[in-house]
Amino acid sequence: MDNKIRLDIVTPHGLVLSEDVDEITATGSEGEFGVLPGHVPFITTLKIGMLIVKKDNKTDFVFVNSGYAEVTSGKVIILADSAERAGDIDVERAKAAMKRAEERLQQADRVDFGRATAAIERATIRIQIAEKKVTR
Ligand code: ATP
Repeated sequence: MDNKIRLDIVTPHGLVLSEDVDEITATGSEGEFGVLPGHVPFITTLKIGMLIVKKDNKTDFVFVNSGYAEVTSGKVIILADSAERAGDIDVERAKAAMKRAEERLQQADRVDFGRATAAIERATIRIQIAEKKVTR
C-alpha cells in the first residue's frame, strides 16, 4: 500500500484503531502537524486534542489524550493515555466529568489546578467531537 499510511492508536485500555489511511493531522505539543505517505521519520509528544483522519474522501475525528506519536514513512503509531473514535464517545459521561472538574475548581484552597483544567480540556474536546462541532 504505497500511498496509504498505517495508523495504529494504542492505549493502556486497548487498540483503538488500526487502519490504512490517506492523511493524518494531530495535535503535537509544538502545534498541529500533518502526515502524508512518505513523511520523514520523527517522534513527538501529543497534547490533549483530536486526530483528524482522512481516508477515501471521508474524514473521521478521534479524541486523543496526551501521549506520543511515532512517524515513519508508511506508518504512524499513536501511544496515548486514552483515545476514542467519535462514535464511541459518551457525551453524558464527558459532561459529568466536566461538571466534577468545574466543581473542584470552585474549592479554590484544595484544588489541583492542573489536574482539574486537564479534565475540563478532555471533556471539552470529547463533547466537540461527539457533537460534531468540529469540521475539516
Ligand atoms: P472520566 O472522569 O469520565 O473517567 P477521564 O477524562 O478522566 O474521564 P480517561 O482517564 O481519559 O477518562 O479515560 C479512562 C477510560 O475511559 C479510557 O478507556 C477512555 O477511553 C474512557 N473514557 C473516558 N471518558 C469517556 C467518554 N466520555 N466516552 C467514552 N469513553 C470514555
